Formats: sequence, structure tokens, C-alpha cells
Amino acid sequence: MTSSIRLVKGREKSVLRRHPWIFSRGIQHVEGSPVSGETVDVYTNDGRWLAKAAFSPESQIRARIWSFEKEDIDCDFFIKRIQQAQQLRDEVIWRDKLTGYRLLAAESDNVPGITVDKYQDYLVCQLLSAGAEYHKASLVKALVHCFPDCHVYERSDVAVRKKEGLAERVGVLHGDTPPESVVIEENGVKISVDIIKGHKTGFYLDQRDSRLQSMKYVEDKEVLNCFSYTGGFGLYALKGGAKRVINADVSQPALDSAKYNAQLNEFDISKKRAVFLNADVFKLLREYRDQGTKFDVVIMDPPKFAESKAQLNGACRGYKDINMLAMQILNPGGTLLTYSCSGLMDQVLFQKIIADAALDAQRTVKFIERFEQAADHPIDTAYPEGFYLKGFACKVL
Ligand code: SAH
Repeated sequence: MTSSIRLVKGREKSVLRRHPWIFSRGIQHVEGSPVSGETVDVYTNDGRWLAKAAFSPESQIRARIWSFEKEDIDCDFFIKRIQQAQQLRDEVIWRDKLTGYRLLAAESDNVPGITVDKYQDYLVCQLLSAGAEYHKASLVKALVHCFPDCHVYERSDVAVRKKEGLAERVGVLHGDTPPESVVIEENGVKISVDIIKGHKTGFYLDQRDSRLQSMKYVEDKEVLNCFSYTGGFGLYALKGGAKRVINADVSQPALDSAKYNAQLNEFDISKKRAVFLNADVFKLLREYRDQGTKFDVVIMDPPKFAESKAQLNGACRGYKDINMLAMQILNPGGTLLTYSCSGLMDQVLFQKIIADAALDAQRTVKFIERFEQAADHPIDTAYPEGFYLKGFACKVL
């Protein structure tokens, strides 16, 4: 018999609003002894059936809801979810001629803890919840059913798995080991992705639209691309006719890929039109400021600074610091393209931080455009936490 959980009275409210998380404090009683990841039925305090969820005994998020319907969580269930997610993306894939995109965005695609990115024929999975781990075999079977020619690789090498009591894991789940370079294309730009050694699942697909939008600010400009990773914004800047692009990152392999990507696209990077600089951005910005080096465009796309609420204050200081420095090294009328991928920092707070940075930099700054994550990173109305990536184009007078 399926195990079940009974909620504390009143705690069904968020479930009725279709939020997928059930916290440990919201649970009155667990019936049976479900193992990590096992499917449980969820009931209100007075015994009304609500949902099917994955039980996670070690996590504060004690259960994550798979479905609000009485259905089995098995291979067919995952096939349905994958088909739904693919259909949702068909339009953008066709319109933007994508050969790399996020196929499943976890909670936002009603498959909590399961992220799958598709790079050509390689599906790369990141499984972050006990339920995802428990159903891994069914998920892989479902992926192979939907994409028979694809190889499946796991990149579950992230520390947050600990919260669910899971060890980190990488390796082939189906088919072949990915080669060192899988070349995808977005908006006519070729990008080599290293699935095995790259960050996350290999590439930051979520910034695709922002990268495209950035092109209109760069023609004939001196561009500084901070936190460049494998080129991303820098490649679009070259395509957009930038006079010079400095890509700065602390990861040498990422910088090597960035250079390789520039060559792959046959961009003219002679006469130092593109520079790939191994540097800590925090220090580099100070050096430029102290030397009086100026730019027309600064792109600021840092890694996530806040992983938890406890880190949010520190993260705010970090964002303010780099954005203040960026403003100080911009020529009058220059453009700051700045982003935050910390979900805990909402758009309003990010806007305030940019305002504080402008005060400290003693510059007049105007917001002229807003950016969000690309369409293959949808936001379910019931799960606003899925909106994590935001950015601004600012004119710095
Ligand atoms: N803009 C990129 C993604 C950036 S990811 C794109 O569009 O693809 C964040 C990058 O910041 C990573 O490559 C990481 O190596 C780099 N990084 C982290 N801390 C850094 C620091 N202090 N200085 C420079 N780079 C840093």
C-alpha cells in the first residue's frame, strides 16, 4: 500500500494553490515508512486526498509534489511531462533555431528536482531531489523513448544534493560518453559546450535572450565582459561589431573555450580585438578604476551570490560593489548590462541595489531596458520561485 502524509490543519492552502513543496513543519503524520524518494499520497488534516508527492526524509522540504491527479508516477508519467515540456518549447526552438535548450526546468515543468538540458543529441540531467533520484531509471527510459537518438549523461555534481541526503554523481546513463566539444547554435552564434567539465550541465542557456539584446549596445564600442565563462556575451559583442572585447574570468578552461568559440565563429580577433583575461573581477575593476581605464559598455553577469537567505545580505553588498565599480569605469553615456541569477533577490531589490551603487559611484543612472530568463526557462504561475534571472540595461551619465 502507498504510504501517505497527513498535513497540519490549514497547511493544505499552498497545495490547493498548487505550490509543489511541503515543508516538514506542515506535516502532522506520516503513515507507513516511505524510503527516500518514494511516492506518497498527500491528505488534508481531515482526510481529503490532495496530491502525489516524493517523500524526502532528510530535507526541510519533506515532500515535493509530482501530480495533483491520482496517477502512477512511472515511466509513462515522465513521458507525458517530457512531451508537455517539449511542446511548450517547440515555438521558441523553431523561431530561434535552437540546437541547445533546457528541456525540463524542474519545479517549473512540474518535475521537482529534475533539470534536463539538451545539447544536440546529448541530454544532460541534473537530479536534485530524493524523488528524482528514486525515479531515475524511469526518467531515463522516458527520455530515451521521447528522443531515441539521444545519449543521456548525468551531471548531479552539486552540493545542494546533500540537503536531500544524496551524494554527488556524474556519468553516462544511456548511450555514449559526450565528446569534449558539442557545438550548439543560438541566434546564429556557435558555442562549444563541454558537457563533462563545464559548469552546471555545460552552458548558461538561460541568458540567451539577454545575450541577443546586448548586441544592440556594442557596435564600435570598447566592451568589458565580466564573468565571461566560455564567451557568451563576448561572442555576441564580436558579432555585433564591438571595437574591442575584454573577457574576464577566473577559470582558465572557460577562457580557453571562449577563445575557441571566437575562432569557431570566424570572428576577427586579430590586433587584440578580443582579449581573454584570467582575472578576479573584483580586483580587476578596482585596477581599472585606479588606472583610469574606461569602457563604453560593461557586462556584469556574476555567478549566484546568494544560495540561502542567510547569504542574502552579503550578496547585496557584492552586487552593489561590482556594479558601483562598473559605473565608475564607464565613459559618460556608457551602458551597463547587469544581471542577477540569485532567485532570493527579486527584481525590486536588485533595482534598489543598482540605485545604491549609482549613489556610491556618484553617477546619474537611468534604467532603459529589463531582461529575464529565456523562454525555455518558464515560470509556473504556482511557483514564482522559478523566476530567478533578471537584468537591466542602464545608461550611466
Ligand atoms: N556570462 C556567462 C555566464 C557567467 S557564469 C554566459 O553568458 O555564459 C559565472 C562565471 O563567473 C563563471 O565562469 C566563473 O568562473 C566566473 N567567476 C566566479 N567568480 C569570479 C571572480 N571573482 N572573478 C572572475 N570570474 C569569476
